[in-house]
Amino acid sequence: MIKIGFNKPCVVGKELYYIAQAVENMHISGDGVFTKRCHTYLERELGVRKALLTTNCTHALEMSALLLNLQPGDEVIVPSFTFVSTVNAFVLRGAKAVFVDIRPDTLNIDENKLEALITPRTKAIYVVHYAGVACEMDRIMAIARQHHIEVIEDNAHGLFGKYKGRWLGTIGCMATQSFHETKNFTCGEGGALLINDANYVERAEIIREKGTNRSRFFRGQVDKYTWCDIGSSYLPSDILAAYLWAQFEARQQIQTKRQMIWEFYHAALQTWASKHGIVTPTVPKECDQSYHMYYILLPDLDTRTRLISHLKANGITAVFHYLPLHLSDMGRQFDGQPGDCPVTEDISDRLLRLPFHNELTMSDLEEVVGVLEGF
Ligand SMILES: *Cc1c(COP(=O)(O)O)cnc(C)c1O
Repeated sequence: MIKIGFNKPCVVGKELYYIAQAVENMHISGDGVFTKRCHTYLERELGVRKALLTTNCTHALEMSALLLNLQPGDEVIVPSFTFVSTVNAFVLRGAKAVFVDIRPDTLNIDENKLEALITPRTKAIYVVHYAGVACEMDRIMAIARQHHIEVIEDNAHGLFGKYKGRWLGTIGCMATQSFHETKNFTCGEGGALLINDANYVERAEIIREKGTNRSRFFRGQVDKYTWCDIGSSYLPSDILAAYLWAQFEARQQIQTKRQMIWEFYHAALQTWASKHGIVTPTVPKECDQSYHMYYILLPDLDTRTRLISHLKANGITAVFHYLPLHLSDMGRQFDGQPGDCPVTEDISDRLLRLPFHNELTMSDLEEVVGVLEGF
């Protein structure tokens, strides 16, 4: 029986109350009052030019690929160690994935391996702030500027994390957020596109509204709306935004709890980890992390498999994470070969994520640590 699950979607405050309000408002389609509150909140708190809620992070990533006009013949550099949506977003446009390895310390894109992969066809770099710990953005942005390449931050893990005092999601031309139930802030399925480069704002609104200028119409800027570009429907229901708004309101509570969980694991596991050749996460000084996950790196795949079983036998679920995308069936169609991204290939076999959600109690955490120490 599972006593301590890996994740648990949590009601933290007024989610159900606001959902009832959305229904009473008689506006349960997209861009109602709760969606607007979420937009304003993200824009004000982060200082981004425009925030647009989307149906999920996958769709925000797809919007970014549409906005960049990515197309066949273009190349996009992306870490192999990421969720498949980061790559599908531009592969759907016909662009080619060029996989880059990660750093062995932060598990983020290895900025020192970027330049060797840049060609005249390179149009964009998609970075992922793994576990909400920032990539080395100064160097990445400098390389991108020098080669006239856009940088998009897949910030699904990193909302309210910082790099050298700057919010994650505010550094590239655009960034994407996820509000899936496994993320720090959730509405079940949801996401957002954050836009920092003002040149993308107007077209983003059009693409999100089926290729029409409906947003301008609702603001009274045009007297009828019309089809003016390609697009799709990326608006979440205001019912979902109502749920998300309650989570934003409880931001301090959520983030304080997650910080406590992360710090508890980190302090409690050091001695055990160093005795068994187990590595705990690295958070560089210039990074304020978002407390999205706690992972450990086991010595090898066999030890990880045995540890997962040991935890399971004690009612605790711990899970591994991304498989190298360059070695997947699709990745091989982009010339992915074993050995292309050696750090990704190695880390993927050895990483284990510990239970991490807002309802873990101190006794749950002590139990996880106790069971690990008994391994
Ligand atoms: C969760 C996640 C996504 C996808 O998010 P959805 O909202 O489920 O589409 C994309 N990228 C990364 C890095 C993620 O962790």
